Amino acid sequence: MRKRKLLRLEELNWKEIEGLDKERTLVLIPISPLEAHGPHLPIGTDLFITEEISKEVINRLKKKKRTITVLLYPTLAIGYCGANLDLPGSVSVDVKAFRKIILDTLKSIANHGFRYVMILTFHADPFYIKAIHEAIKKVEKNRDIRVAEPLSKIFYEGRNIHHSGKEETSIMLYLYPYLVDKSYKSLKEIRLSTSLFDFRKTLKELGAREGYVGDPSKATMELGRKLFNYIVNLCVETAQELLESKYENHLPKPLRYLPLFLQRKY
Ligand SMILES: [Zn+2]
Repeated sequence: MRKRKLLRLEELNWKEIEGLDKERTLVLIPISPLEAHGPHLPIGTDLFITEEISKEVINRLKKKKRTITVLLYPTLAIGYCGANLDLPGSVSVDVKAFRKIILDTLKSIANHGFRYVMILTFHADPFYIKAIHEAIKKVEKNRDIRVAEPLSKIFYEGRNIHHSGKEETSIMLYLYPYLVDKSYKSLKEIRLSTSLFDFRKTLKELGAREGYVGDPSKATMELGRKLFNYIVNLCVETAQELLESKYENHLPKPLRYLPLFLQRKY
């Protein structure tokens, strides 16, 4: 195969794809919808962060495991974002339609012999994450493929990462400082009185009128660098476990009994 810096799946022809050793190939799929991220971050925030994580994961995996081929799937700018669909720029699709798109995409990839896939997303909407996991469960049952989604547990069972708050703003300051509006420094802290697990309401309805939660004014580039590295390391570990067939997919606890039909329609 021709030597390229970053192997993008869409640049290969079918002969090259046929010739890949699928036991030693991992496909990374970055996904995230466009979504309002407060008055200071771009609507592509989750997309930008997801893409940068994906590229860095590939760089580190290449250094660690030279015998592995990691292919980058074109970023899917699609998803459900019920929490912010009443703010300009958020693009949300029906969560069941989204689940079907992910399922069929994974089926197609499996049909061509790929055995290992990692879905990366920095968008943590509960219905959206649940839909991804339902699609993974179904494809793993019917095809000889293993699919990991390692990031949602950070949001639900790990660090307290608020939407467009201190943490996410920090990561954007580290990755894309020129896309962070300076007004973040004077934004007031927003604490939601209602639990964030009130999944059916939008942030605006819950009292976060400008579409952010937490304290963006405390964001720093240094915190962003640390968080980014922590996240990348987690994904690299997951990829290694996946390729060694040691990985068990994990749906965060608060999402286990969440039915998709409760999704918010706009
Ligand atoms: Zn986000």
